[in-house]
Amino acid sequence: MKISAANDLTFFNIAHEAAVRKGMEVIGIIDCHSPSVQDDIMTYLDRGEMEELEGGGIRYQDTAIMLGTEIEVREPGRGPAHLLAYMPNLVAMQGFTQWMKGHMKNVELSSQRIYVPARILQEEVLGRGGILIPAHIFTPHKSVYGSASTRMEHLLDLDGISAVELGLSADSDMAGLISELDRFTFVTNSDAHSLGKIGREYNEMKLAAPTYEELVKALHCQEGRRIAANYGLNPRLGKYHRTYCSLCESILDERAVTVERCTDCGSNKIVRGVMDRILALADREQTYLPPYRPPYHFQVPLEFIPGLGPKKLDQLLRRFGTEMNVLHRTTPEELESEIGEEIASYIVKAREGNLLLEVGGGGRYGKVKNRS
Ligand SMILES: [Zn+2]
Ligand SMILES: [Zn+2]
Repeated sequence: MKISAANDLTFFNIAHEAAVRKGMEVIGIIDCHSPSVQDDIMTYLDRGEMEELEGGGIRYQDTAIMLGTEIEVREPGRGPAHLLAYMPNLVAMQGFTQWMKGHMKNVELSSQRIYVPARILQEEVLGRGGILIPAHIFTPHKSVYGSASTRMEHLLDLDGISAVELGLSADSDMAGLISELDRFTFVTNSDAHSLGKIGREYNEMKLAAPTYEELVKALHCQEGRRIAANYGLNPRLGKYHRTYCSLCESILDERAVTVERCTDCGSNKIVRGVMDRILALADREQTYLPPYRPPYHFQVPLEFIPGLGPKKLDQLLRRFGTEMNVLHRTTPEELESEIGEEIASYIVKAREGNLLLEVGGGGRYGKVKNRS
């Protein structure tokens, strides 16, 4: 979850949306490195509307907020990559901000480039009790595999990585083609830049309590804590799933895999698809899922359902409480009685994995096809 992208994305609004409308018990907020966001946090702590948890993180109602930041690194001769860092508490994050200030142009802004080698950043994060998670690792413009390198180990010390974020256009099966990833926990985060998109992807976790310490244990599969399931967008709906040719203006779906040129017109003005990139990097033919890899459930967020506008969405949330309830815990009959048979049938088909999808690419999300 990212703060800077829109005006209504204040720390409080995000906490409220996550706690009340989405029903999430843990949410990571990036941009907590920003001094103005930290001021905001202190206001709510002072007023007693939020409190720092003993095990790390900040509590608002029944939701624990993890303090995070997204940072861009760029090694000589390589493209940029985004990394997520989470800190146990506000003091640790404030100290980290002070350190970053000396290596960044404007520490207020989001996802800023830091002018130190990735491994130095990694040491700094871990040294402060934080954790490091490479972000949306396959996306074409700013990610470890998508733009920076062919191997994670070229940038980072693998022992100092707590998990990797798959991004919206990939799932566990796809990532299982790359053996370097076998050792890592996969997280499916929403990467939301607006309130509505919170929870479009999420992780089901086994924790003793919603705190930072417990989260870290879960990512490292310690003491029975773990990620129990990933809930992610069907990767075909992700906006970088397949390669896009800006000359043909088409997404090269169901055609030859390509990361260099358009297979139709030969143009090199393409945006590499995540699936195409993974197949190019794959060092095995069949996907491998280690025994500890949890199930990966596809979900189609309500905003993708044809005919379901804001009014009907509000109606559903009023009746069923949260988007997760609507998506996973309602009966077809209940849905039909609220929004009619046709829209209800899309939600039911989405659960069964039976929706017809138009694939995404080049920055355009995929779509649920209308029944014709
Ligand atoms: Zn990013
Ligand atoms: Zn083309």
